[in-house]
Amino acid sequence: MNIDRTSYPQTIYPVGHGYDLRPKNVVPIGIIIHTTNGNSGSTLAGEARYLQNSSGVSTHYLVGKGGEIIEFLAPGPYRAWHAGQTPAKWTNADTIGIENHFALGEVWTPAQRTALTELVQQLMADFAIPASQVTTHRAVALPPGRKIDPSGWTDSEFNQWRAALVPVNGLSPAWRLTLLSAPRATQAQVWAQFANRPGDPYNERDLREVIFPAYFAQATAVGLDPIIAICQSAHETGRWTSFWSQRPQRNPAGIAVTGQWWDAQPANEPAAYNPNRGRWERGVSFASWADEAIPQHLGRLLAFALPQGAGTAAQRALIDRALSLRPFPAQARGSAVVLAALGRVHNPSGIGWASPGADYGDRLAALVTATIAR
Ligand SMILES: [Zn+2]
Repeated sequence: MNIDRTSYPQTIYPVGHGYDLRPKNVVPIGIIIHTTNGNSGSTLAGEARYLQNSSGVSTHYLVGKGGEIIEFLAPGPYRAWHAGQTPAKWTNADTIGIENHFALGEVWTPAQRTALTELVQQLMADFAIPASQVTTHRAVALPPGRKIDPSGWTDSEFNQWRAALVPVNGLSPAWRLTLLSAPRATQAQVWAQFANRPGDPYNERDLREVIFPAYFAQATAVGLDPIIAICQSAHETGRWTSFWSQRPQRNPAGIAVTGQWWDAQPANEPAAYNPNRGRWERGVSFASWADEAIPQHLGRLLAFALPQGAGTAAQRALIDRALSLRPFPAQARGSAVVLAALGRVHNPSGIGWASPGADYGDRLAALVTATIAR
């Protein structure tokens, strides 16, 4: 969720121009959802300018059809003039106002509904507002019937949506664990979680002196949590025992492994001969863990975490390196900020690391939290 707090601040105007301060010691206890119901064809920027400049009305937030979120007023200190006459406890002093860019007769976009959901869940956590205190403008406007918004959203649909709201802090770990983070555990904790076992293809020295340290050094350098990358590798390879993870394949996370296979070596597909199955299987092999496999793994994770063009020089260089080896769909860039979105069914681009991956994020999160608890 990205909130634009700088483009349309209402506070370029003095208090009294469309807004004022919340009365002392009053914190918001409710959220009122609106739609702008302007002309069809109006632009988000046009609606935002109108709201910013109006001396008679205002809102804390405006959500766009593409999922944009504009903040005009910080919801803690400022009282936006969005509700008009209401019952006690639903007044402007008591509530946060959220407008949604919408014209009568339109259909809500999924991106707008998703952004609104994320914003509301964040505000619920920030101000300890329960879902029961999230409502529609039409439900609280006085006299009854004065307002119809939010339009394009029936009461029963709204109530269903509201019933599924959870404060962002209440989300499951797969939805909270971001790919980009400082290391959430130490190398000692990683070893305690993933100590090799008798008969494993990789011995203690391989894991503790080569693979884990390389993940820590390289992931930390580009802002990725090495614990997430190591847990994903462990999950994808059965703790580094799978055919694809073994030498000479050294594939850390099923890169280009699709289950496709051939009797003879294919001409134009990356493949390796699996002697156990007597066939050529699709996937990429790497000459070294530290110099090839791990940079490729981390570069692809970064491509999921960061939109095109975003990131530091080091992040962009690692992404470019990984994507020059294996293509990456442009629409999936930046589509997985959290673990859950690595599963295709939870990814807004419709592409994920795992497919369908309904429990992929949960399984990775379970490994991550177990490692942190070591
Ligand atoms: Zn309204």
